[in-house]
Formats: sequence, C-alpha cells, structure tokens
Amino acid sequence: MPYYLGLDLGGTNVKAGVTDGQGKLLTHVSIPTADATIKGRASLAPKIVIRRMVDAGRQAIAKAGLQLSDIAATGVASPGQASLAKGVVLRSANLPLWENVRIRAAVSRGLNLPAILENDANAAAYGEWWVGAGKSRRIDHLFMFTLGTGVGGGIIHEGKVVHGASDFAAEIGHTIVVPDGDPCGCGQRGCLETYCSASYTGKRASRQLAGSTKVRKQSTLGPIFAQTGAVTAADVAHHAEAGDAFALTIWNQTCRLLAIACINVCHFIDPQMIVLAGGMSQAGAFLLQTVDRHFRENWWKMTPPTSTIALARLGNDAGVIGAAGVAKRAHEQGQLPPAGK
Ligand SMILES: [Zn+2]
Repeated sequence: MPYYLGLDLGGTNVKAGVTDGQGKLLTHVSIPTADATIKGRASLAPKIVIRRMVDAGRQAIAKAGLQLSDIAATGVASPGQASLAKGVVLRSANLPLWENVRIRAAVSRGLNLPAILENDANAAAYGEWWVGAGKSRRIDHLFMFTLGTGVGGGIIHEGKVVHGASDFAAEIGHTIVVPDGDPCGCGQRGCLETYCSASYTGKRASRQLAGSTKVRKQSTLGPIFAQTGAVTAADVAHHAEAGDAFALTIWNQTCRLLAIACINVCHFIDPQMIVLAGGMSQAGAFLLQTVDRHFRENWWKMTPPTSTIALARLGNDAGVIGAAGVAKRAHEQGQLPPAGK
C-alpha cells in the first residue's frame, strides 16, 4: 500500500506526518521553523527552512518504520500567496525573506519524491473533508473557516480544493462584513478577520476594557485586564460562557458576524457542511451553539438551512493530513511531475 508524506510549513513550526491511503496519520514530527544556530531573519531564509522541512519529512518517514521508497508522493502546505501550479510561494507575512520561492521543486529534490504545493488553509480544509469533520457523512461540498490570528478559508467542491484563477479563492477573512468598519491589516476596512479572528476578538474586548472604568468594574474580565493589560479570545469565551454580560456582548458580536459569513458562504457555494477550525474552535460546543443560533436567526425564511455547522476534528494535524491527502489525489490522477522537477 502506498503511503503519503504531508509537510505543513508554519511561521513557528514545521510539521511532517505520514499517512496511509485512508488518511490515517502514522507519525507526526514537529520542529521549529527557524534554525536556532542562526541569528535574526536569516534563520528563516528559504534554503534553511526547506532543508528543515526535508529533515522533518525524513524523520517522520523513519519514525513510521518506512523507507523513502514506501512513500508515493508528498504534499507541501504553505502559508502566504502562492502560484500553486508552479509550486512557487510568492510571499508570506510570517516568512519575511520569502519571495518567489520554488518550494515544490526544492522539497521534491530534497526528498526525491513527486511533490505538490497547496495553501495551508486549503490543505487543512481538505484534511477535515477527507478524514475529519466531513468523514463518514459522504459529503462532496465543504467550507472551512480557520479562526486563529487571522481568518482563513478553504472550499472543497466535489471532493476537490477550489483555487480560483489566481489561487486566492476562499480568502473569506477579507470579505467585508461591516462597511467602513475597523481597519484590517490588508488595507480594507470591516473585514471579517477584524471581527471574528481570535486575535481581534481579544483586541476588541481589550480596547473596550481600556476605554471604560465602568466596564472594567462590572465585567469579570476587568481583573484579568488590570493584571495583564489585555484579554484573549479564550478569556472572552470562558467569561461569556460563565455569564459575564460584557464578555457575552463581545462573544455574540463575533459569533453573529461569523454566522452571517456562514449564510453568505451558503448562498455562494451551497456546502453540505461548514467546519469551524483554528484557535477559536477550542471554545467547542459554546462556539458551535452560539454561531448556529445566530445562523438560524438570520437565515432566510423560504427553506430551512441545508448546511450543517460542525467543529473541526483534526486540530493541528489537519494541515499535515490534508497535505498528504492532496498529494494522494494528485498522484492517483497522474498530475504530479516526476521527483525533482
Ligand atoms: Zn482584510
């Protein structure tokens, strides 16, 4: 049986994992992205990081008790903008020295395996579709939100990742949900990301705590803010769930806009399932129930919703598993260039 290697490049860690043809993860290796023996930004230079990805891949294969020859192909999940068909990372916010990096060919040469490049949020969505939240539901159409520092998205349509003409389909985080709203790092105002990401949810709460003595006194988040100068989305979720009125207001704003984004996604692409992943999904049933309530309240009255909202199941392994999955799909369809190309 052929096995597949998934590599997931992050700003902090490089992850590698081997799956079998059914998507079962046999091993998981995680190493820091930066080379600790090198100082400054050079520690994240493309050559250095790609060498570490290749090393992590070899470690994962060895840990699974396999040889390189047992692996049919490898998938590389990368953040940032990319030209996927060419296997090139154009730029990435988390990897400042990365510009026009031919990552696919370099990894392919380093491991002597056919390789494919995929965007990290897309790979994670594919993983959840393949063996996570979407497994066993026999679904072909899935959308996934990744709610972390930013808000990412991934579309699976008829069992395939949708890329769009310029490889940036599913940039749901930068759809505008509040005209003239809060400024986003991307230069637009009122992006979904500025309301629904974990970091901005924490920031929004912190900003209001900073601006009002009354809020600081009344909210149970007040003492945390006084001690640390900031609260996180996890703090907001915990205190909202415990019934704090201020935390609940912030939490409901986030979940309501997320629900509206879910409705917009449904009207665009009609998925069978919408998956909530990333740091915010740690809030579990509380997130799911709040989003689902707002989703149903705001949904049109003509027919009931046909999409189910679900929590991601694979956690941090989604990227690695999904990268292996897209490699398997491309390998089976004969779409991969030979090793080293
Ligand atoms: Zn934006």
